[in-house]
Amino acid sequence: MTYILESYGCQLNMAEANALEILLKGAGLEKTEDPDAADAVIINTCSVRKSAENRIWGRLSFYHHIKKSVRPITIVVTGCMAERMKEDLLSQAPFVDAVIGTNEKMDIVEYLTSGRVETEDSYHFVSSYHRDGEASSYVPIMNGCNNFCSYCIVPYVRGREVSRPADDIMREIEHLDSLGVREITLLGQNVNSYSWKGISFPLLLDEVCRHLDSIRFVRFDSPHPKDFSPELIDVIARQERVCSHIHLPMQSGSSRILGLMNRKTTREAFFSLVDEMRAAISGLTFSTDVMVGFPSETEEEYLETLSAMDYLAPIEAFMYYYNLREGTPAAKMAEQIGEDEKSRRLERLIDEQLKRASLIKRGRIGMVHEALVISPTRDDRSALLARNAHNEMISFHPLSAQTGPGDIVRLETTELKGNTYLGREV
Ligand code: SF4
Repeated sequence: MTYILESYGCQLNMAEANALEILLKGAGLEKTEDPDAADAVIINTCSVRKSAENRIWGRLSFYHHIKKSVRPITIVVTGCMAERMKEDLLSQAPFVDAVIGTNEKMDIVEYLTSGRVETEDSYHFVSSYHRDGEASSYVPIMNGCNNFCSYCIVPYVRGREVSRPADDIMREIEHLDSLGVREITLLGQNVNSYSWKGISFPLLLDEVCRHLDSIRFVRFDSPHPKDFSPELIDVIARQERVCSHIHLPMQSGSSRILGLMNRKTTREAFFSLVDEMRAAISGLTFSTDVMVGFPSETEEEYLETLSAMDYLAPIEAFMYYYNLREGTPAAKMAEQIGEDEKSRRLERLIDEQLKRASLIKRGRIGMVHEALVISPTRDDRSALLARNAHNEMISFHPLSAQTGPGDIVRLETTELKGNTYLGREV
């Protein structure tokens, strides 16, 4: 049996897709990229925004066409959309063969091979999420979220927080280390609220770093500012392998809007956290998520977000305007802001961030960092592309012809072209 696996959305969805592929391969199924040659298609969906769901509906009509006119392909929908709108999918897309929720995602193998699927009542982690031969790997450590930010659908589709047993995590990471993996990302929707039998996230991170040999870069995503403890800052500052580039979602720079968002933090608390981190972690850089146009956001509050971005000075930012998600408290809030006004606010936010990031990045020319070689560059096959601890991409010509993907090199950045540095090996 041949299959296509399409995965959308967050890194956790991608990690689960990797794990599913390992299981599919183990069961003898063969991957194909050709829709006309596939026996089955699995669509691992995302519900975080309406646009993500619209894209899935588009993919479903595409495969419906294949099923009608090319071959009788089995269509399976899984992931957050399968949780959120199972009934809608079954009624509006009757050509879909199975809608399988997040907790049962790994049982897709059994469904495709035997036609059965068990109903699980809780999320379970599998033993490995690593794609064969890759130098980087995701390691999911927790799933779900208890925070209920008022605009977010995640707690409703992923359920409450479940932490993966620490011994399972350590076993997977030691295995990855023995395979020669160079970079891992510990994943969870609220990764720093990890808690298993008295082991907190800082303890886990510290323990992980003590056991590493080949793995040079340890990242984690996505933390919540309210759970960013002094202990965690201390581990990042002490452990050289933990990247000093932190994704710290800000969402808004206004305390009133943060309150309406149920972020459980304030502008002042966020700023003191940033100060504390900067004082403790050398060479620290930030990335962030930021949203404008939340219901009732005034011009002054929007300007507070712009000034908070100046304060945080992220080198990367995921910027968006508020999108109504049915079923969340924010969807029922009065004073929803019009599309034109939201677009205006977003445009200025993006424009300022692009200028800010370019200025900060130019100031980083001349710095020397270790970096992981990812691949040859697209336009010059004699050059390589590497990523440093700060998530910055650097293109360079290696000193040795033996250098290739998976190697760690020391690079000095010499020039900035768009978002990518040119560099030289030192
Ligand atoms: S912390 Fe908030 S934004 Fe992040 S997944 Fe949980 S509810 Fe959603």
